[in-house]
Amino acid sequence: MLQRHATVADVRSALKKLPSPQALVPTMGALHEGHLELLRAARKKVGPEGTVVVSIFVNPIQFDRAEDLENYPQPLEEDLALCEQEGVDVAFIPKAGSLYQKDHSVIVTDSLLSRHLCGATRPGHFDGVLTIVLKLFNICQSDYAIFGKKDFQQLALIHRMVRDLDVPVEIIGHPTVRENDGVALSSRNRKLTAEQRADAPRIQRALAAARDLVTTGEQNPQTYIEAARHHLLKEKPEDFSIDYLELVDHLTLQPISKLTAPATLATACFYGAVRLIDHIEIYP
Ligand code: AMP
Repeated sequence: MLQRHATVADVRSALKKLPSPQALVPTMGALHEGHLELLRAARKKVGPEGTVVVSIFVNPIQFDRAEDLENYPQPLEEDLALCEQEGVDVAFIPKAGSLYQKDHSVIVTDSLLSRHLCGATRPGHFDGVLTIVLKLFNICQSDYAIFGKKDFQQLALIHRMVRDLDVPVEIIGHPTVRENDGVALSSRNRKLTAEQRADAPRIQRALAAARDLVTTGEQNPQTYIEAARHHLLKEKPEDFSIDYLELVDHLTLQPISKLTAPATLATACFYGAVRLIDHIEIYP
């Protein structure tokens, strides 16, 4: 039976009474199969007797565009039904904004891993993400927390925060869940028109085509970036544009000058106002 809690005090006292180990899956709701896979991974990790906690909170301080926050889908009852089906024990659903004091002034800031990729094009986004994630860790005090590799920069930052601030939680990264045509599942996909959705496999296809250059021994990052750009823009729809396209070291997330170690080719693209991210690993 799924317990719902809306306040910090309630969820804390509920979790104290529930068995360990406990695993937390932070989400912003609008749950899809990708989120459900994280819930299943959480259950697998804690076992049938352990506790699976999901948080559903559209975190206002991580949105750099007000319209993006306003348009974020929030089908709460559907989400809770899915959590129930998946055997989640506790849903933490704080009221919008209630997690932050009106005069809150302390945030978590990274100074390295957020310099490029989404961090460069979405100012303040990762400060917002790290702050809410640390708050959720402190509130729930779970043994494990599961995050998707789809948001690989976010996952890298959370690993870094946990390491640098000695947060007592084990982070588990879960592989990206994709549709049959290669499109990564995302709550944003439902905002695409049918034409945009049909075109969206171009993103993963372009990254894979660039990645395949590795078989030629190519080491120049620019060659990979240009190949991906070519495929992204080839016969593109009018409303399609690239936000960023970068090849970065997979650990430091800094641009590389030569491909000699595992790297990540990552992009964010717009279909109209809908922004989709994706990436691919390249192993030289
Ligand atoms: P969100 O609700 O978008 O903040 O996502 C909540 C969690 O689900 C994050 O850890 C995401 O990385 C993860 N997630 C979202 N989409 C996918 C996907 N397609 N595959 C794997 N994990 C995902």
